[in-house]
Amino acid sequence: MVDAEAKKFLRENLVKVQDKIKQAARKVGRNSDKIKLVAVSKTHPNEILRAAIEAGAKVFGENKVQEAEGKIEEIGRENAEWHLIGHLQKNKARRAVQLFDVIQTLDSVALAERLERICKEQKRESLSVLAQIDLANEATKNGISEKDLPSLVKFLQTCECLKFDGLMIIPPYFEDAEKVRPFFRRLREIRDDILPNGELSMGMSHDFQVAIEEGATLVRVGTAIFGERN
Ligand SMILES: *Cc1c(COP(=O)(O)O)cnc(C)c1O
Repeated sequence: MVDAEAKKFLRENLVKVQDKIKQAARKVGRNSDKIKLVAVSKTHPNEILRAAIEAGAKVFGENKVQEAEGKIEEIGRENAEWHLIGHLQKNKARRAVQLFDVIQTLDSVALAERLERICKEQKRESLSVLAQIDLANEATKNGISEKDLPSLVKFLQTCECLKFDGLMIIPPYFEDAEKVRPFFRRLREIRDDILPNGELSMGMSHDFQVAIEEGATLVRVGTAIFGERN
């Protein structure tokens, strides 16, 4: 059960985050209407997502297809916009195409080929994708390297169903958000080169203001909205 206290907590957190988005945008002369808040709802149960919708959340980010499946079916595809923000394994691609509005974690030509083929099979006319970029060359992280990005972009230009809408990054973690700024800045430069009006999905609870200063159009915020995850 979500009690009144929990609903108030969500409402207040959403207002705080929205205010910070506006402040960060104003600081650099940007229009905050162009910045979309993705509420990262992974690990939180359906009733919390419902309460978040009541409190004004419109877009949810989930990192696992399997976990998202039950949530999206319960809450309804149409009642929110659903973004996949975690690595997509190829055996989950079909389910992901059925469930998500946006796949933010496209990281290889092979995955793009698979998604395009599945969209055609399922008569899904258009699927929004962001390319996840690995700028730190962290072997442990997913994402396509800058070196391999041109081949992915080239393939996406030939796709009928996949809509190449922008770039996404999960930078290395630094306590000090200023240390993340160079990653955000670099992602923006790459975007300006290959897709000038494309989305930039960057920034999480502890660094989304810096990301907005550097041009983020989608910020993925979990903890600052829902509280600490267990
Ligand atoms: C969990 C997660 C977030 C949200 O992180 P918080 O620090 O809780 O805001 C953002 N992006 C991705 C890809 C995540 O997995």
